[in-house]
Amino acid sequence: MCVENVPPPSSRVTRRGVLAGAAALAGTAAALSAAPGAVAAPARDSGRGPGTGAGPTGDLVVEGGTLLDPATGEVTEDAVVVIRDGVVHAAGARSRTAVPKGIPRLDAHGRWVLPGLIDAHIHLNTATEARDAVRQGATSARSGSTNFYQDIAVRELARQAPEQAPRLRAAGVFVTPDLGDTVLADPDLTPLARLRDGVRSAQALRRVVEVNLARGADVIKTRVNERAGLPEQDPLTQVYSYEQLSEVVAAARRGGKGVLCHSYSERGCDDAVRAGIRSLEHGVFVGERTLRDMRRRGTHFTPTLTAIAGMIGDADPVLDERGRTYLPILKEAVRTAHELGVPLAAGTDSSGGTVEPIGREITLMHAAGLSALDAIRTATTGAARLLGVERTAGRPARGFAGDVIVVDGDPLADLSVLTKPRHVVRAGLPVRD
Ligand SMILES: [Zn+2]
Repeated sequence: MCVENVPPPSSRVTRRGVLAGAAALAGTAAALSAAPGAVAAPARDSGRGPGTGAGPTGDLVVEGGTLLDPATGEVTEDAVVVIRDGVVHAAGARSRTAVPKGIPRLDAHGRWVLPGLIDAHIHLNTATEARDAVRQGATSARSGSTNFYQDIAVRELARQAPEQAPRLRAAGVFVTPDLGDTVLADPDLTPLARLRDGVRSAQALRRVVEVNLARGADVIKTRVNERAGLPEQDPLTQVYSYEQLSEVVAAARRGGKGVLCHSYSERGCDDAVRAGIRSLEHGVFVGERTLRDMRRRGTHFTPTLTAIAGMIGDADPVLDERGRTYLPILKEAVRTAHELGVPLAAGTDSSGGTVEPIGREITLMHAAGLSALDAIRTATTGAARLLGVERTAGRPARGFAGDVIVVDGDPLADLSVLTKPRHVVRAGLPVRD
């Protein structure tokens, strides 16, 4: 049947569905917040924090640590970060920063203080996964899609209980030929179940994008290749053409949104970039000509090294072999991209209940050839630019979100300290284990 014969997506259904999901998640969050000792700082409902929406935010002074600003590379010893209403009010040397009295303190003596990290590719399906991500230092994130709009509910959870979920750019459902059970996620998607060939026509592609936009997606996730993480699929097989990807990009742009594209093969990466995607995901076999084009267009590269490295040692020999073959190729692509000036963003591609620390992706960026500071930038200033939050996240500076991590040593000397933050602060609220 013709997809266009069904009425256009209704945003009424959206609100009800999303609110129901958010209520379910927020119920869990509220119960946890009410647990004794769960929240130390006084929370207040100001709604003035950047990107924090109308939820509670905190006041906090992080004092005594060594502060690193990834934007400038500047290191300040014995620093203070003053957070008011979830926003950085002042940050710098203690001797030159006025510290207000009567608000909670977090002692960072002997430790390093950085802005909260950003995971630019993560699949957050549950409140537990959201909490795991923020506890491990990802105070902001971009979704790589979920099957039933769970990420949109997680985004609402992050607004209601900032210390329990990263500030999230949601992707809604995957724009992919075979939607599978996802057609059941939405009455406006179910007509697509009748398409014998799946989501491939211009009309069907537009429909999935438009339904996502109506449901409140901030970005659109699509693919050009099959998956690497499934042994029966060949990630070099192309599933959408340049023309099909161009339809997806055009539909997203009509809604003012960018597209992130799961890509592996050289040709697939090139088609995706020429179609105008905002960021190339995975991109193991991206060629130098395409990387130069990305530099020219400002297309970001999210290599998700963590996910590729994670296949090594898999019980399935196909995946183990894939990981061993792909990782050095991807590292080389990352190194070349960095040398050419392609903007890089850190993303773990965590999914399925296991949340990898975003610090691990930073260590792998460094292993691929970036300096420690440039590797940190991929999860702070660089990822912030990709998410469009470069004026509110990724720096410990006045006016930025009150998101901070405190780590046990000098990350410029040993990036592994970023994989296990000692403290995480989100919108001025301490994140508890
Ligand atoms: Zn993914």
